[in-house]
Amino acid sequence: MTRSTYSANHPYCDQTNLYTPLRFPELASAIAHINEEHYDELIGFLTAFTALSSEDIAEATVQLVDIYAEVIVLQVQPTDAKKTSTQSSDQTFFIPFTAPITQFSDLNTQYILLKQKADKKLGKKTIKLTTQTFVVQDSYKVSQNMLRLELTGPNINTSYKNAIPVDEAGYAYLFDLAHNFTSTKGGDTTLTRAHCYYTLRKAWQASDGVRAWVDVFLHGDTPGGDWARSLQAGDTVISKREFPEKTAHLQDGQALLIADETSMPTVARLLELWENPIAPLVVCVTQKAADQAYFDEIKMMADRTDTAFTLLPVVTGQVNSGKALATLIDDILGKYLTTHPLQIDKVWGAMEAGTAKALRGLIQQRLGLERSDSVIKVYWRHD
Ligand SMILES: Cc1cc2nc3c(=O)[nH]c(=O)nc-3n(C[C@H](O)[C@H](O)[C@H](O)COP(=O)(O)OP(=O)(O)OC[C@H]3O[C@@H](n4cnc5c(N)ncnc54)[C@H](O)[C@@H]3O)c2cc1C
Repeated sequence: MTRSTYSANHPYCDQTNLYTPLRFPELASAIAHINEEHYDELIGFLTAFTALSSEDIAEATVQLVDIYAEVIVLQVQPTDAKKTSTQSSDQTFFIPFTAPITQFSDLNTQYILLKQKADKKLGKKTIKLTTQTFVVQDSYKVSQNMLRLELTGPNINTSYKNAIPVDEAGYAYLFDLAHNFTSTKGGDTTLTRAHCYYTLRKAWQASDGVRAWVDVFLHGDTPGGDWARSLQAGDTVISKREFPEKTAHLQDGQALLIADETSMPTVARLLELWENPIAPLVVCVTQKAADQAYFDEIKMMADRTDTAFTLLPVVTGQVNSGKALATLIDDILGKYLTTHPLQIDKVWGAMEAGTAKALRGLIQQRLGLERSDSVIKVYWRHD
């Protein structure tokens, strides 16, 4: 059981004396990253491990302020309106890890364990640290630069631990690139990265097991692309970690989906499984016009929505990253909304880190949504 300890204002200083400070140089950027990219998980920790009500949490700003060897430290600041109405003050919570951190790499494991525990308590799907083996059946291009790997995996009736979800969009696997990697360039090539996330584009039960598609966008000579290109029928592929995408908020209301080349597989599956009666607006950004063809075959189920989805293709002619792309997406959206007055209630998107960061602010300004109604994820980072 995870018990959080709580202290208001000044006792915070006293309580930190109980814990071991961490001196890793990477700690400050890890804390900033968690605050920026994993805010909803911090909310999950507070909901699962403290007595705070969802209302208190929703009306506060939550921040990860420190990490000690034994605990994470969360600060909860009521918004100004709440402060004046109930005189509440800032609160600090110390949420313990399962085991103390001794080296920086332990932080990742301990954080995942904490998340698993919180999700279990809240009845939510969670990240899994499971090794899964697939066998390559085929690989072929589905647009100019999108390579589809067709894989077989363990049977659908297998244990929960190894089950492949057939009805989830954006379910991602962390693939081990070093396993079975043979360089197509000749000679010894060392991989500059050992793992890479790719989404389960689609999975279904076939007579010989579960079939799965994984679509890898090829953007030059990179470890992920080289790995995917080198795979041959009969090769095994291993994944080490899996996690569900945050899409539950898209069940109702007018949704806006924003894809770049790496998140087209998630958006395609979202559309195929769409159950919200209102069809979404989809912005799809690619460098090349030819890659927009990825959406040509995608259909929503006719009996579930009244209309087809609307696709706004954005072809940039360059690598899709950074703040400028966020401004471009926001401008295109602004223009569309002046000619097609829509009230957008929900947003899901995934893209490059700099674009995601800037777009979160622009979308917030334009649409004024609650934090939980807009999920803009980082799928990759530009060097
Ligand atoms: C949850 C999740 C799901 C994902 N699902 C998919 C998926 O289904 N299909 C998919 O293709 N990708 C997907 N991605 C993105 C993929 O993991 C990254 O693009 C990854 O960085 C690719 O690794 P790489 O070895 O090709 O390039 P890296 O080693 O990351 O980078 C090498 C160079 O390529 C540049 N680069 C990296 N990615 C891109 C890009 N997309 N466009 C242009 N330049 C780039 C980098 O800036 C760097 O200069 C997903 C990511 C996450 C987090």
